[in-house]
Amino acid sequence: MTGSSPDGRPLPSPGGSGRQSGPQVTDVIVIGAGVAGLVTAVVLARQGIDTLVLERASRADVESRSRAGLLGPGAVEVLERHGLAEGLRAAGAPHRNCEFRHRRQAFVVEYAQYVDGRHHMVYPQQKLVADLVLAYLAAGGTIEFSVRDVTLDGLTSDRPTVAFVTANGEGRTAKSRFIAGCDGHHGVSRASIPWEALRCTQQYESPWAWLAVLAGVAPSTDKIIYGVSPQGFAGHMLRDHQTSRFYLQVEAGTDAAQWPADRIWEELQARLAVDEDWELAEGPLLEPPSVVAMDSAFYEPMRFGRLLLAGDASRRVPPAAAKGAGLAIADGETLGLAVAAALHDLDERPLDAYSDVCQRRAWLSQEASTKLLHMVHVEFSDPFAQRLQDVRLDRLRTSPAAAADFAEHYVSPV
Ligand SMILES: Cc1cc2nc3c(=O)[nH]c(=O)nc-3n(C[C@H](O)[C@H](O)[C@H](O)COP(=O)(O)OP(=O)(O)OC[C@H]3O[C@@H](n4cnc5c(N)ncnc54)[C@H](O)[C@@H]3O)c2cc1C
Repeated sequence: MTGSSPDGRPLPSPGGSGRQSGPQVTDVIVIGAGVAGLVTAVVLARQGIDTLVLERASRADVESRSRAGLLGPGAVEVLERHGLAEGLRAAGAPHRNCEFRHRRQAFVVEYAQYVDGRHHMVYPQQKLVADLVLAYLAAGGTIEFSVRDVTLDGLTSDRPTVAFVTANGEGRTAKSRFIAGCDGHHGVSRASIPWEALRCTQQYESPWAWLAVLAGVAPSTDKIIYGVSPQGFAGHMLRDHQTSRFYLQVEAGTDAAQWPADRIWEELQARLAVDEDWELAEGPLLEPPSVVAMDSAFYEPMRFGRLLLAGDASRRVPPAAAKGAGLAIADGETLGLAVAAALHDLDERPLDAYSDVCQRRAWLSQEASTKLLHMVHVEFSDPFAQRLQDVRLDRLRTSPAAAADFAEHYVSPV
C-alpha cells in the first residue's frame, strides 16, 4: 500500500494503489477516465504520486466512444510537453485551413498563415484516450473501470473519501488527499458540491442544437467545411480515412429518431451543395445520430475543499469551435501540476489559482465558439440577423483582418 508521509509528501509508489480490508489509501482519486482525468492522472503518476482512477464505463467503451476529432495547438502542446503525443503525431493529420460555403459559393480560410503556422491536428478522441490509458498504466497508475455508485464524502476534510462498487460488485472505499472530479458534465463530482458553494456564472440557452452524425465513409474533403445555406448550417468534419463526422443545425429539443439516414443525407447534400464540381459521398451511419446542445454553462470556483473539478465537469462549451477536449486536456495539466506542488512542496498557491487560470482559458474559448456559431447558424425567422450574417461571411472571405481575427480565436488558447 502507498500513501503520504506525515509531512504530506507522497511515499514512493510500488506501482499503484494497494488493496486492503479497510479503506484503500491513496494520494489522489481521479473520477472519470476521459481526457481531463487521464491527463491529470498521468501528470501525477509520472511525479510518483499515488493515483487511483475510477471510471464508470468499461475500458472498451472509453477507447471506442467517438466524440472530438479536432485538437487545437494549445492542447497538442500540452500533450507534447508530457510525451503523450506519439500516437497523435503518428496517426493524426495536421489541419491548417478550413472552408466556408455560403449560398453555394465556397471559400477557404488559410487560418494557420495568420497565427505563425499554429494549426490543429485531427485525431479521434477515443484513440487519444487509449494512448493516455496506456501511458498512465505504464507510469504505474491504477484504474478501476466499470465502477458504479460512486459517492464522495468529507470534501472539506484532510482525507476525503470515495465509496464505489467495483465491476465485480464489491463495495469499496478509498481515502485520499485530493479528489479530481473529471467525470464530465453529468458526473457525480460537481453534484457533490453544495449548491450554495458553486455558482453557475452564465448560461446561454440556444434555440439551436446540432444533429451529430458519424458515417463510415471517406471524407469528401481534405479540410473542414462549414456550410451555411437557406436550409441551415451543415458541417463536414474529418476523423480518419474511413470515417467522417457531419453536423446539421436542428432546433433544440429535436428528437434524433426523427432523422433517419435518408433524411440526413438529403439534408447534407442540400446544405453543402456548391456551384462547382463537387460530390458528397454517402455511407452507412456508424452509430445512431445524437443531438448536441449548443448551451453554455460555467461553474465556479472549480475547487471545493479537497475536490477539484476539471474539463466538462466544470463547464459546457458548445462544440462549434472544437474547444472542449482541448480545455479538458489543459485543465488536466494545470490540475496535475498544482496538486503535485501541494503534495511535493506543500505549496498550495497553484491550487488556489487553479480555478481562475482554467476559467480564463475557458471563457476565451467560449468567445471563439460564440463567434463561430453566429457566423454559421441561420436565424430562419430573422432577416435582420441573416443580413448581418452575410456581412460577417463576406468580411471573412475578403478581409485579411477579419480572417486573422478568426484565426486567432480558432487556434487559441487551446
Ligand atoms: C459530438 C461531439 C463532438 C465534439 N467534438 C470536439 C472536437 O472536435 N474538439 C474538441 O476539443 N472537443 C469536442 N467535443 C467536446 C469534447 O468531446 C469534450 O469537451 C471532452 O470529452 C471533455 O473531456 P472530459 O474528460 O472533461 O469529459 P469526458 O470525456 O466526458 O469524460 C468523463 C468521463 O467520466 C466518466 N464518468 C461519468 N460519470 C462518472 C461517475 N459517476 N463515476 C465514474 N466515472 C464517471 C465518463 O464515463 C467519462 O469517461 C465534442 C463533443 C461532442 C459530444
